[in-house]
Amino acid sequence: MKNIMNNFEYFAPGSLEEALKLLSQYGEDECKIIAGGQSLIILLKQGLITPQYVIDIKGLSELDSISGNEKEGLKIGALTTHRAIEKSPLMQNAFCILAEMEQNVSSVETRNWGTIGGNIAHGDPSGDPAPVMLVLNAKYKLAGAKGERLVEAEDFTSGYFETDIGHDELLTEIQIPAPPPRTGAKFTKFSQLQGDYAIASAAVSMTLDADKKTCADIRIAMGSVAPAPMRAKKAEYLLRGKVITDDLLVEAGRMASEEASPTSDAEISEQYKRELVGTLVTRVGKEAFERAAMA
Ligand SMILES: Cc1cc2nc3c(=O)[nH]c(=O)nc-3n(C[C@H](O)[C@H](O)[C@H](O)COP(=O)(O)OP(=O)(O)OC[C@H]3O[C@@H](n4cnc5c(N)ncnc54)[C@H](O)[C@@H]3O)c2cc1C
Repeated sequence: MKNIMNNFEYFAPGSLEEALKLLSQYGEDECKIIAGGQSLIILLKQGLITPQYVIDIKGLSELDSISGNEKEGLKIGALTTHRAIEKSPLMQNAFCILAEMEQNVSSVETRNWGTIGGNIAHGDPSGDPAPVMLVLNAKYKLAGAKGERLVEAEDFTSGYFETDIGHDELLTEIQIPAPPPRTGAKFTKFSQLQGDYAIASAAVSMTLDADKKTCADIRIAMGSVAPAPMRAKKAEYLLRGKVITDDLLVEAGRMASEEASPTSDAEISEQYKRELVGTLVTRVGKEAFERAAMA
């Protein structure tokens, strides 16, 4: 690949306040944030972006932490690496879906540098964390010169690489609420090689009634099969309030595959992706149900 990276002025602010001040001074096209650089460097090298200023936030240790528990929920700083989440002892029980998801993100090398905030802010529809954040009902904290705001994960990504982050804002934290009792969650992805971006992915979080058979609530999300990660709301509606059976989960997978809107690419047809994601939804639905019954 020919290296056509342009010259830019590099800043490494020492605090979030300083980073936001710098960000507010420059326009959208002339300035870029870099965190782990795993995606941004590729765009720079290919000449797809040519910023005049690059603000390196990787050193902002205040955004690199994981805290919380199953009673209070989790707070994950945007600069936490994939690897730190994968290895965190807090990723137990209902939150073990996060560690399982991270184990499937690329290679250990990429996970050691790539950050959860960079992944989500990038808005790649094939990214693995976003569908998991949808089923965990996460909120994203954004900070700008004018203050902070919280955005529901569901409202955050609107299309291919399109997010709700203003050009003068940073994603600073991911907030995940405490799961209700009898909740189980599971994620899976299908890719051509281990660690590749997903051809399709699915995540399910299910909460059961006291009988441990009836679905009290459910969230189903799919990745890589639409311009943005999406909920399968018709399939959720089908399952909510019903006694869960294998047949019902197969029907939910079929409905989810109809809700998806994948496109064919050079190697894989739209129809294949549609059928694949339906199968994944059925499969993780069953595993989430089994986990919820054990919780
Ligand atoms: C070979 C390879 C394979 C990969 N495979 C997968 C995979 O299978 N699944 C998967 O999910 N991901 C995959 N990734 C993506 C990777 O895991 C990173 O999560 C991703 O590159 C972004 O993280 P980063 O910290 O490197 O962000 P950067 O590359 O530094 O930034 C990415 C974008 O987000 C912006 N940004 C970064 N941080 C913030 C912030 N806090 N606030 C606002 N904007 C911000 C940047 O300006 C840039 O536009 C892969 C990457 C590579 C290189």
